Amino acid sequence: MAKEYNIARSGGHCVRCEKALEPKEAFVATVVEQDGALVRRDWCLACWEDPARGDAGELFGQWRSVVPEPAAKRRLFVDDDVLMNFFLRLAGDADASRQAFRFVLTLVLMRKRLLTYLRSRRDEDGREVWLLRQRGGAEHEVVNPELDEERIAEVTEQLGEILEGDLE
Ligand SMILES: [Zn+2]
Repeated sequence: MAKEYNIARSGGHCVRCEKALEPKEAFVATVVEQDGALVRRDWCLACWEDPARGDAGELFGQWRSVVPEPAAKRRLFVDDDVLMNFFLRLAGDADASRQAFRFVLTLVLMRKRLLTYLRSRRDEDGREVWLLRQRGGAEHEVVNPELDEERIAEVTEQLGEILEGDLE
């Protein structure tokens, strides 16, 4: 029953030099598409800042983070801009799992009052489409994939995994 979202978590290694990222080390996390799935790719700072590193791919998200100490409870701060950019980058994607991500991001952003629900309509395929206003004025449409609560919880957890942070 559970839908396979097929997100690979970061392995704690730099994607380029394959060096292990050590506790307390700063690194750059990215979310890119690979073979149709969204995957986390982490970069050590040296590789990320190397002018010769090459193209990092189309980034759905990018943020700086610090490797937590092993004993520390995983509770990293996920920046609002990262969430909003992720939301924007997923616009117009017809893939069902991306739409689920985008919808759950919408719920998170509404809770943070970064998006305000305005109204909904039915599109030509009979799907419910929400119209939302971003803080600052831009309006966005989001397809409601009509997930049940269990699926929403699942997708929220997967988002938390890919972002390695707390969405509350
Ligand atoms: Zn590296």
